[in-house]
Amino acid sequence: MIVILRPDATEDQIQHILKKAEELGLKANISRGVERTVIGFIGPEDVLRVTPLEIFPGVEQVIPVLAPYRLVSREFKKENSVIKIKKGVEVGGQKISVMAGPCSIESYDSLLAVAKKVKAAGATILRGGAFKPRTSPYDFQGLEEEGLKYLKQVGEEVGIATITEVMDPRQVELIDRYVDIYQIGARNMQNFSLLKEVGATHKPVMLKRGLSATIKDWLMSAEYILAKGNFNVMLCERGIRTFETATRNTMDINAIPLVKQLSHLPVIADPSHGTGRWDLVASIAKASVAAGCDGLMIEVHGNPEEALSDGSQSLKPENFTTLMHELKAVAKAVGRDI
Ligand code: PEP
Ligand code: MN
Repeated sequence: MIVILRPDATEDQIQHILKKAEELGLKANISRGVERTVIGFIGPEDVLRVTPLEIFPGVEQVIPVLAPYRLVSREFKKENSVIKIKKGVEVGGQKISVMAGPCSIESYDSLLAVAKKVKAAGATILRGGAFKPRTSPYDFQGLEEEGLKYLKQVGEEVGIATITEVMDPRQVELIDRYVDIYQIGARNMQNFSLLKEVGATHKPVMLKRGLSATIKDWLMSAEYILAKGNFNVMLCERGIRTFETATRNTMDINAIPLVKQLSHLPVIADPSHGTGRWDLVASIAKASVAAGCDGLMIEVHGNPEEALSDGSQSLKPENFTTLMHELKAVAKAVGRDI
């Protein structure tokens, strides 16, 4: 890191900083200008979280050189990570992966019908919530384990991989038995116990960006999972809270190419939660593909009017099929397949 000293820093203060840094195992490179002294330190920056140099007398500013999210960063791994979901299904390669299905699993028959349609249209992963994080405790909370059973059965019957949300560390083992990917929802992005628990498994995890999370917060949360040993992590941009109320969230398209620069992990875009409106989903899905996402998550329901959650942002299967056709041209234009 680089330490910029105050113009009035004394020689005693400089020597004190150098002594402390040496004790911490950092090598100093001091550059004395007419007005200012700047010290470049080489070594493990982590120690500065315990002993921050900012608090030393004479220090004006400390500029870290390395990203605080180490394992997640491009500095750590140059090539894109490709996450193997199951035989024949991977995320992060040249092909854009599409996850589609209802917000909530409502019945075996409705899930089966939608799964057949999304698979026929080109989706390779079926989504469906069994434990739902609802703002109101009086809203439909999901079918819980019964829903997980339907998801597993339908996944096997149709031949499609599956993803569902895990809301609590105590559900990790149960959900492990039923699905191929853990989804960590926006509201749980900083549930650190949950991040550690899924980090201790080898199952792929899709980590959604928190409602008000900065990109750094989001990548630090992913770091929790990798730090526990699970490198099978995908990041999902699902829109953030802003002053704008015309849409449910504001889809942060910027995040897609930016996170691709900062991290080697695949980036998924969720235009359903990003907009909250079914009539905007197709445009934002196309924009996300153009921006370089590695996958899409799209809510599809056989009859959105009757959906028990998120009907207003769910596509009808026929609209999803049309969108998948349209996305081919966009993907091709940016050198990808879908
Ligand atoms: C969902 O995918 O249905 C969901 C609840 O998403 P988010 O956590 O992004 O709100
Ligand atoms: Mn939803």
